[in-house]
Amino acid sequence: MRRLAVLAVSVSWSIAGFAQENPLTARQVIERIQKNVGVPWTTPTVDTIKAGNADTPVSGIAVTMMATQDVLERAAASGKNFVITHEPTFYNHLDNTADLEKQEDAVLRAKQTFIREHGLVIWRFHDHWHARKPDGILLGMTHALDWEDFQSHDNEHLFVIAPTTLSSLAESIKKKLSIRALRVVGDPQLKLTQVAFLPGAAGSARQIQMLERNDVEALLIGETPEWETVEYVSDAVTEHKRKALIIIGHIPSEQAGMEECASWLKSFISEVPIEFIPASEPFWLPR
Ligand SMILES: [Zn+2]
Repeated sequence: MRRLAVLAVSVSWSIAGFAQENPLTARQVIERIQKNVGVPWTTPTVDTIKAGNADTPVSGIAVTMMATQDVLERAAASGKNFVITHEPTFYNHLDNTADLEKQEDAVLRAKQTFIREHGLVIWRFHDHWHARKPDGILLGMTHALDWEDFQSHDNEHLFVIAPTTLSSLAESIKKKLSIRALRVVGDPQLKLTQVAFLPGAAGSARQIQMLERNDVEALLIGETPEWETVEYVSDAVTEHKRKALIIIGHIPSEQAGMEECASWLKSFISEVPIEFIPASEPFWLPR
């Protein structure tokens, strides 16, 4: 299977007239991204290889929000062995597997075995995609929400939307991003225009700072511990403050930003196929 994919790639090279004899390696793809990202490459960073060998010839690039087992299986099935993921592969921010390995964790072992058997290389692209101007994740998400016209020129996280209620705003976000399990804290009838958006898990400190602003009524986030930002907004509501929180889930809150990344990669990588593979929203709700 893999030999076939390599053959197909070399055929497309000759069709495209590429002089390059050696196939592109994962290391070369990363170097090209570093050259094109438009911001200095700073360390320490989580934007490193999490599994596989940097010198692996790349048969195709799968771009995703989260390198779940499901995403890896779809990448391998489509003949793409280089996975670019925004979020961790191994269940914590630094992809530290030491504890799980000590416990001989069966889920971790199955994933590592799959990665090895399919010759996958997994590289995280998080810090520098966010560091871009504009932030690559926010750019894709603003487009997916169709909020470009509402975005502040001074702060890309702030939006002034047409007057609506918290309930209608939450419904429209749920629909636009096709979310199953969106949750809201606040008065459904609250009339508002001022919205802030912090995708992913920005942390309760940044989330609460946003909510402290006089020009923010509703804050849209990926996720937060419920005993931090959620409790803060619950208290604000009890104190009759005009504040609300919309929790859209980590994956839906950044997914379109990685679709944006896949299109961006195509602007300077043409030797191998590049595909955006969406990660599935993990939650469902009982009827
Ligand atoms: Zn992110």
